[in-house]
Amino acid sequence: MKLLLALFCLSGFLTTAQITPAVLTGQSVNPSNSLEKETQAALKEMQAAALKDGIKIEVASGYRSFNRQRQIWNGKYSKYEAQGLTPDAIFDKIVEYSTVPGTSRHHWGTDMDLIDGNAKYSGSVLVTDKFHGDGPFCKLKDWMDQHSTEYGFELVYTMNNNRTGFEYEPWHYSYAPVSKKYLEQYLNQIDFVKFLRSQNIMGMDDISDARLERYYKEHIQGINAALLLEKE
Ligand SMILES: [Zn+2]
Repeated sequence: MKLLLALFCLSGFLTTAQITPAVLTGQSVNPSNSLEKETQAALKEMQAAALKDGIKIEVASGYRSFNRQRQIWNGKYSKYEAQGLTPDAIFDKIVEYSTVPGTSRHHWGTDMDLIDGNAKYSGSVLVTDKFHGDGPFCKLKDWMDQHSTEYGFELVYTMNNNRTGFEYEPWHYSYAPVSKKYLEQYLNQIDFVKFLRSQNIMGMDDISDARLERYYKEHIQGINAALLLEKE
């Protein structure tokens, strides 16, 4: 029994120790762009259960690398810069809908945007209306509201007026047992402002410390309380 306990502690320690800054910021090698292992296994289980109810859970967007996110960021930054906006104003604009490279939960492989492959739809998929009312993904949303927690998955950017940061996203789910650990490590390990200023991300030499620190608090930690660490 003692040995078993020791093994459990050791494996817990190893899992925690393995989350390196490179993994936390999407800079680790992930040639197949795959989801985190435990997340993938839990998703498979949830997909099988949903399929019995006629819902085909599909990942529209899963793992996303730092380089990909930086590409998106720099593209938007150039556009707004050409329109004459100040660095802090450009920052405000971009973070309405996009994350700062190195801060996306998609970097972790624990988070994903989900749609229903059995639904008939056209045009862009990640649109709030499509998940509500008689939208094509409302069956998926209802099913997830009822069952996702059983499988460890939680909505991240909930519809909650007290939540700060990103807009409501009815499609973005996180595998809580793993992503809670990642968030803890992220907050403990990453020297946020210093990191952002060292990564060739457009605007990072000009955006104020105060604006970056506000993003750290309001956006990175402005998530569903079920995904935050319990306060001691
Ligand atoms: Zn997402």
